[in-house]
Amino acid sequence: MASKALVIGLDCAPPQLVFDRWLDELPTIRSLTERGSFGVLRSCDPPITVPAWSVMTSSRSPGALGIYGFRNRRDHSYDGLSFATSRSVRVPRVWDLLSARDRPVIVLGVPGTYPVTPVNGVMVACFLTPDVETSQYTHPPELKDEIAQLVGRYLIDVPDFRTEEKDRLLADLEEMTEKRFRLAEHLLETRPWDLFFMVEMGTDRINHAFWRFTDPEHRLYEPGNSYESAILDYYRRLDERIGRLLRFADDETAVLIVSDHGAKRIDGGVCVNEWLRQEGYLVLKEEPASPSRLTPDLVDWPRTKAWGEGGYYCRLFLNVVGREPQGVIPQADYERVRDELKGKLQALGDEQGRPIGTVAHRPEELYPERNGVAPDLMVYFGDLLWRSVGQVGTGAVHVFENDTGPDDANHAHEGLYLVAGDGVAPGRGSERDIRDIAPTLLTLLGEPVPAEMEGTSLV
Ligand SMILES: [Zn+2]
Repeated sequence: MASKALVIGLDCAPPQLVFDRWLDELPTIRSLTERGSFGVLRSCDPPITVPAWSVMTSSRSPGALGIYGFRNRRDHSYDGLSFATSRSVRVPRVWDLLSARDRPVIVLGVPGTYPVTPVNGVMVACFLTPDVETSQYTHPPELKDEIAQLVGRYLIDVPDFRTEEKDRLLADLEEMTEKRFRLAEHLLETRPWDLFFMVEMGTDRINHAFWRFTDPEHRLYEPGNSYESAILDYYRRLDERIGRLLRFADDETAVLIVSDHGAKRIDGGVCVNEWLRQEGYLVLKEEPASPSRLTPDLVDWPRTKAWGEGGYYCRLFLNVVGREPQGVIPQADYERVRDELKGKLQALGDEQGRPIGTVAHRPEELYPERNGVAPDLMVYFGDLLWRSVGQVGTGAVHVFENDTGPDDANHAHEGLYLVAGDGVAPGRGSERDIRDIAPTLLTLLGEPVPAEMEGTSLV
């Protein structure tokens, strides 16, 4: 039994790169694989940062949490989506359970922790912190000044990662990650802890910004380009930094490396609302003069049956009588229209009509329990090789420029896990579920696993 657990979360880190392609380049991680169990950690549906880290740390599905993406419908009105914050998570996460047992914790940068909540220890909030200067992003509050003294301007996230300024972005990523790990070492040195849980976002940002330079299958890949090794170089420095954190892990400390989902190339974008218009499900009051965001005032609601949201995956909503303010689909027709849309979306090919393998899920097939307002369909275009574009007036269903700036990578369901510690059988293990991590941590730390948790311990 371990008395402590040190968890390093690498947002979006894909097992295909870390374990299959680059393990020999990453001596710290390689040595951990020699004494730990490692493999694919299957993310939740949707495999999106928010909710995935909260799913991992509470062992509850997105349906149970009522968090279906970065943004969620508050109610059945048309005025858009609101951001999920820490307040959206209404079940205890692993640090809450440990705090209640008087065990000290350090929580650093885990997505879904802004605004911060009190813990028995310290918490530094995640990338959703609006502004480190003005936001209260630490527990206790005075930790904020300590961080400023330690690192100067702390970077919660890199500004504007969907950019063509690649050198500027690499410098920002380096600064952010260096400061986060310096802070991690400082907290490990100065605070008591039984659980240390940090998440680095740089691994996600670099995938989105540099995937085209490193993946020969990406449409824009050019052999021998000057950023070919940008992601690997970032991981080499990360591996050194992880090595320095391991100085704080004694024989009694279990060490975990986990990611919330993986990454894959993006082949293009599907303008879901343009497609819905073509098929007669969505009607606008007038033709937009230029590509624009779909806002409720543009829509002729009494003639509209469905609309969709952009993002790494598509949330599709139906306009239902008695549910939406100007619903048109009679309740009795709901399943028929939804099935029709599911079938048509799954048959939608690429710009030349070739099949891309789109999957459209009914939420009730994914989750036994559904809180909040779930989408009517959750659509993975091209099994996530295509993203969803919400704009209208683009003049095409298939686009190859992203409406929010260049982005080369989408999220994949395959994240990774590595668990090293006393009593863990080393070697490549079977695929595990993201909900297995919280029960694993509690078991490693000798604490009971609550019956509501949906996963099972790896140990
Ligand atoms: Zn993520």
